[in-house]
Amino acid sequence: MHHCGNGLYLQDKFCTQCGEEVEESKKLLTLTDIEPNLLDDLIQSCPEAKTFTGRLKNSFYYKRRNKGGNITFSYWWITLENADGEVKQISINAENEAFNNLKNGTVISLLEPTDINLHYLLDDAAKGIVTNDLLASGVILHNDDGQVSTLTNHYNCSKPRMGGFIGLGLILAIIATAIVAGMSDMGDGAILVGIFISVACMVPLYNSNVTAFQKEFARKESITATLAKILEISKYQLGFHKVERTNRDDDIFCGTCDHRIQLDLEYCPQCGTSQTIHQNMQPSSENEPDSVACMNDTKESQLLVEEPQPKESSRKSIREMRLDKMKEFYQSHQQEFIYRHALSPNEKFDGSAWCYMVQVTDRKMNTDVSDVTYTETYTIRDKHGFYDTKTTRHRVRDSKLSGKLTVEDETGEIFEQWLPDSLMAHTEVGDYLLIGYSRRQKNDRYRTYSEYYYNISKGRWEMPESIHDYGETSLLSKFLVLLVAVGCGALIYQTRTLELGAGLFGLFMVGVALKSRNTDKANNKNASDLIQPIMDTLYRVRDNKKELLAYLAKLK
Ligand SMILES: [Zn+2]
Ligand SMILES: [Zn+2]
Ligand SMILES: [Zn+2]
Repeated sequence: MHHCGNGLYLQDKFCTQCGEEVEESKKLLTLTDIEPNLLDDLIQSCPEAKTFTGRLKNSFYYKRRNKGGNITFSYWWITLENADGEVKQISINAENEAFNNLKNGTVISLLEPTDINLHYLLDDAAKGIVTNDLLASGVILHNDDGQVSTLTNHYNCSKPRMGGFIGLGLILAIIATAIVAGMSDMGDGAILVGIFISVACMVPLYNSNVTAFQKEFARKESITATLAKILEISKYQLGFHKVERTNRDDDIFCGTCDHRIQLDLEYCPQCGTSQTIHQNMQPSSENEPDSVACMNDTKESQLLVEEPQPKESSRKSIREMRLDKMKEFYQSHQQEFIYRHALSPNEKFDGSAWCYMVQVTDRKMNTDVSDVTYTETYTIRDKHGFYDTKTTRHRVRDSKLSGKLTVEDETGEIFEQWLPDSLMAHTEVGDYLLIGYSRRQKNDRYRTYSEYYYNISKGRWEMPESIHDYGETSLLSKFLVLLVAVGCGALIYQTRTLELGAGLFGLFMVGVALKSRNTDKANNKNASDLIQPIMDTLYRVRDNKKELLAYLAKLK
């Protein structure tokens, strides 16, 4: 669909060039709209075969293990939304590197020749999130630059081996010969009868195996052929590139309807308001969009006549608004960090704590699979004195996620951000994170504590460590305790009275305990004071999560 030579997007109500209203007749297409006979052949061998095409709304990484716990596979639990707004949730194999870079908005087609159920058990993190055991076998990614298809090995088949049948036939022939020879007096003739019986049994068996194989083989062939057809269909043919305009850094909000629009559009596609007028009527020194509403018409027109403004007015871009919001949660705080010891002098550090908000701009995941079979050979001696050598095999298959996140901070700087694995599995491109650290430093030496990692969009956080954990008994204190103990021991030896020495030592230790209770208290307070500002920010974000996310969602 075009108007004034411009391509229209799915939700467009007005032409962005002339402002004229357009009829809504644009629609996304399905695979069968483009290829009506797509499944005709496959349905012969797989009557239940189905496809689904949609945009990726959500992806979650998880694992499944067998009952023994030694075999692990990993999957992506994906949520797709199709052209009609229907949502489908299903697992796909995470060990395929084609899915290392899944991004929300990616157009994905699923081909399910039959239902495949996963029988291994869900890991704890996946419980409550993964709500069915189905696996999609054929997955096609309709990327910007072409399609990629993958197929799990569930439909693989192997040809029955002739050798196996000959071996089996030989055994059968010997048994049959033995039976025939035992029951009759045929002599050498029994061998011939035995061979005849064996062949009569083996040929149909072999044939039925071959037929079954041919059927499976034909099924695999038509699955592959169907996949190949889908592989030819691009997101542009399906119309998915017209779902929404690509976000640009200088996108702005339409002053009338709050719709996100590109800076160079003449008219808002949602409400049809001319953007040129809207941008011009804003005074250059004013950034508040509200001020537009306060001005009356006469003033607007006067302004227009007297002082035509350049089109790039002072209106803030959506990106600037987003960075401004993120700036509100940047905190940096310095304060002396004193660690008090009960017996030795206090330690003084330069303490600092800081937190920042970032948005995930890219995610690259990688799953490493290790599959090792351990063989152990051991010898046991039984009660009769015999030695017996045994071999056991023990298979361990593991599937490990490693990933890299790229994020953008409130200054627009892009860098790599580390996250704990448990949080990484939940984190997607577009998510907002709040990250807090603390540090104690003495001269050039410092130690940084990861106080928290908070995925605001997913409402999940991890607090791996804290400056609260810092505490060590100094060498001097240990030496002092030893010294007093030795002193009391000497006293006991000298005076021959155990009570006096032990009593003195006991008294000393009670004193130490009381003192350290006080220092513990002071140390705790000191650590709390240091991280208070970043903890307050964490609670502020957590308590206003809903409003904050609603605001940021418009600015994504
Ligand atoms: Zn037009
Ligand atoms: Zn508008
Ligand atoms: Zn073992």
